[in-house]
Amino acid sequence: MNRRDFLLAAIQGQGPAARVSTASAARLMAASPWPTTGRNTARKDLGALVARGVLRVVESAGRTSYQLSTEKEGGSMTVRFTDADRVLGQIERGEVRVGADAAREIAACAEAAYGAVWSAEPARAFPQLRVACPACGSAPGELCTSHSGTRVRRHDVHQARRAAWAKGGAA
Ligand SMILES: [Zn+2]
Repeated sequence: MNRRDFLLAAIQGQGPAARVSTASAARLMAASPWPTTGRNTARKDLGALVARGVLRVVESAGRTSYQLSTEKEGGSMTVRFTDADRVLGQIERGEVRVGADAAREIAACAEAAYGAVWSAEPARAFPQLRVACPACGSAPGELCTSHSGTRVRRHDVHQARRAAWAKGGAA
């Protein structure tokens, strides 16, 4: 799929009555394989889609926007929707949140509900810590270590410890 087809599909993903401006078209492209598409490029691509007959120009209150042509006006051009196109539409409409800020808010909610799951030592929360580790000899409640005890394993435990825990905790 080329850049213009992608833009068209992204607009179609907004629904049949969607209108886009050059600015919102450029935003749609931010999540595309051409993320640096600016307003000027978006304007050119929108113009090309108008020339192709799949979009039409709508002037409203002095602003130019672009809308999908109806079947009659648009001819036989069809673009298959992909999951990516649909998701782009959801992002544009605010139904799906993306980005660092959204991730932080979601993480904060999860942390409030489940405790400090993003701590610096996530392995502390592992139930496998209740048993001693047969591989490195860590006592119950202590993190596994590697390299003869010089490196603490903050994110995982030894396979043997998982196995020991799964067996019922016999260290
Ligand atoms: Zn271990």
